[in-house]
Amino acid sequence: MSGLRIPLDGAEGPDGAGTATAVNVLAPNPSPMTLDGTNTWIVGGADAVLVVDPGPDDEAHLRRVAERVDGRRVTAVLLTHGHADHSEGAGPLARLLGAPVRALDPRHRLGEEGLDDGDVVTAGDVEVRVVATPGHSFDSLCFWLPGDRAMLTGDTVLGRGTTTIAPDGDLGDYLRSLDRLRQGAEMLEATALLPGHGPVLPDPAGVLNAYVVHRRMRLEQVREAIRRGARDTREIVEMIYADVDPALWPAAEMSVAAQLDYLKTTL
Ligand SMILES: [Zn+2]
Repeated sequence: MSGLRIPLDGAEGPDGAGTATAVNVLAPNPSPMTLDGTNTWIVGGADAVLVVDPGPDDEAHLRRVAERVDGRRVTAVLLTHGHADHSEGAGPLARLLGAPVRALDPRHRLGEEGLDDGDVVTAGDVEVRVVATPGHSFDSLCFWLPGDRAMLTGDTVLGRGTTTIAPDGDLGDYLRSLDRLRQGAEMLEATALLPGHGPVLPDPAGVLNAYVVHRRMRLEQVREAIRRGARDTREIVEMIYADVDPALWPAAEMSVAAQLDYLKTTL
């Protein structure tokens, strides 16, 4: 559950992309909603790693992830959130690698430990700091890699286009999370965002700024569509997403529904 825009032709595939301590293993589940597919991130050093978002329960993909782990100790499998395209393979991979699954939502955990804002998870001497960023979903987390000055963003920020607010998300929370990420990216001088789908983004503050501007613009468009007489989410979508492939309109409707909820509470 993620992107709203169609991938750009000719964009570099993100398999193998990353930073000094994070590398992407791209899952074979491309679609208009998942862009190139889900990015599974292996984070760590020579002795120990964490696996972030195993992706779909696809045997060949999970085997590739295990190959890239290459015998290193797996401290934990972490989930940025519980949507199936990120979490479905977590149980099978964790069993394969003998590691626990840590997530904010207890339903997605395997083992005793959860995951929440402020937690620090380590793999050898590599540190991952957990930042709660609800909005895309209620349980969305980002993972800050201080050693690389990079942020794993799950579906909160995507490598292309913008993300949707899922039925289990909340636009008000999302706007607050974007503000928090934007301030953090500036303060910590972040150099890369490592998204759940799509390529690595080299200008975190710029991207987060564009996300905030885009959200404000969409909200203004929804207000305007209502002023012009749109009566339901479908009519609003037809007005303001006229330039978008109708195959993506169901996702757009979901996004508009989230915006209407938000406007109701802020009007
Ligand atoms: Zn998602």
